[in-house]
Amino acid sequence: MKTYQLFIDGAFVDTVSGSWFDSIDPYRGTIWAKLPRGGEADVERAVAAAKRAMTEGPWSRMSATERGSILVRLAGLIADNAERLAQIEVRDNGKLLTEMLGQMRYIPHWWRYYGGLADKLQGHVVPIDKPDMFAFVEHEPVGVVAALTAWNSPLLFVAFKCAPALAAGCAVVVKPSEFASASTLEFAELAALAGIPPGMFNVVTGFGPEAGKALVDHPDIAMVTFTGSDTTGAAIYAQAAKSMKRVALELGGKSPNIVFADADIDAAVAGVVSGIFAATGQTCIAGSRLLVQNSIRNDFVERLIEMASSARIGDPMLPQTNIGPITTPSQYQKVLDYIDIAKREGARCILGGKPASGKGISGGQFIEPTIFDDVTSRMRIAQEEVFGPVLSILGFDDEAEAVRIANDTIYGLAAGVWTNDMKRALRMRKALRAGTIWVNTYRAVSFMMPFGGMKHSGLGRENGIEAINDFLERKSVWISTSDSIPGNPFVMR
Ligand code: NAD
Repeated sequence: MKTYQLFIDGAFVDTVSGSWFDSIDPYRGTIWAKLPRGGEADVERAVAAAKRAMTEGPWSRMSATERGSILVRLAGLIADNAERLAQIEVRDNGKLLTEMLGQMRYIPHWWRYYGGLADKLQGHVVPIDKPDMFAFVEHEPVGVVAALTAWNSPLLFVAFKCAPALAAGCAVVVKPSEFASASTLEFAELAALAGIPPGMFNVVTGFGPEAGKALVDHPDIAMVTFTGSDTTGAAIYAQAAKSMKRVALELGGKSPNIVFADADIDAAVAGVVSGIFAATGQTCIAGSRLLVQNSIRNDFVERLIEMASSARIGDPMLPQTNIGPITTPSQYQKVLDYIDIAKREGARCILGGKPASGKGISGGQFIEPTIFDDVTSRMRIAQEEVFGPVLSILGFDDEAEAVRIANDTIYGLAAGVWTNDMKRALRMRKALRAGTIWVNTYRAVSFMMPFGGMKHSGLGRENGIEAINDFLERKSVWISTSDSIPGNPFVMR
């Protein structure tokens, strides 16, 4: 069993309290690593190191080009270690190795992209409307950033947040999820090896209400960037407001996958299956509501059941596995509770609906791919995020009804539209209230494309060029070029 330490000021260190917590392999149900249980005193050390590094350390004195080249070097180290890091994430969160390895091989792009952007952050001269005045706007890093991440894609979220933050010149303290912390600590070693100076990248593991809360409350944290549930996100938003911190929130969803009768049905069936059953439904962008046009409903549902029921459940490390375990015991119970709620609400369970058992299923917690038909928009199963392999089917007759049902939730993270009518696709993309719209595809994500939610799905956007602005302050500088004494000092210039 591996025992980890915190990463503070460029070194692996024990917690001040000397306490630990276990990381449990969701497939085997056994403890596979011991993680340091960081608390307020550790956060204090990490934030002090970050503040010092940002203001006095070499990162602030380096040229932006040098900083960028270190991030690009880090990209290479991640690529070299992709297999090892992906295996660690699978031990931690039980997601498929094929999925985590795919992510790990893609993550270097974030570091290259923002590394390349580091020396392209230019201020600008303003052609100011006042005589004898030279005015310009320049950028500065916002300050020390706290990055709080969820368990489902730990190093992908570190890339979303820390690559632009470091490129902007900010120091970061990452608090990964208590359910998947190991890969972030392994990553810290690569960050140091790449040349990120001590204190610029720190990792304090531990629990949300302990280490997480201490970070959100800390007066020297300028910004909190968070990925997690909307309940925690709202609490962090309120807490951060007390000390006027900037906040970026990437939260949950109840995304619709909308299939029109004119769609390519084979592609749509595969897209719907991928939307909800990939990652065992444990993804913020899960297409957990299928809206299907009533004229093709029976045929579509039949094909959907055929494909979903052929999914192989089992060991997430094996390449042939399609559905792995649910990551945590509480999440497992929550999914089963929602299945009960749906049944009690009158939804018709047409596939799965219970714990999975059989060959390849060990001590972990598995749930069969589950589909409910005859769901109505007012049911909880159509409104609340399950975060598991549970699909709700709602029928619609026309485009207007599809839009009404699709937008009828508090969330607005993503939406899928399946149609061969491009005019319809263009109308739908405008009518849907979601941060990402996929047409004839689903679950596509890129370092180049802004990602984030509307409504309760969050605040701000990650990825793409603009995301770096979250980590920058704009400073307006006015310089008088006049030799004469100004006029009346009691009026605005
Ligand atoms: P969570 O909200 O329970 O925890 C997220 C992080 O916040 C963890 O690191 C946790 O320790 C920390 N935390 C918890 N309480 C805290 C507190 N009081 N103060 C400070 N930090 C605290 O979420 P989770 O269960 O890890 O992840 C699943 C959720 O994340 C789902 O709702 C999912 O939709 C969402 N998610 C969103 C995105 C996105 O990009 N929009 C991506 C992945 C997951």
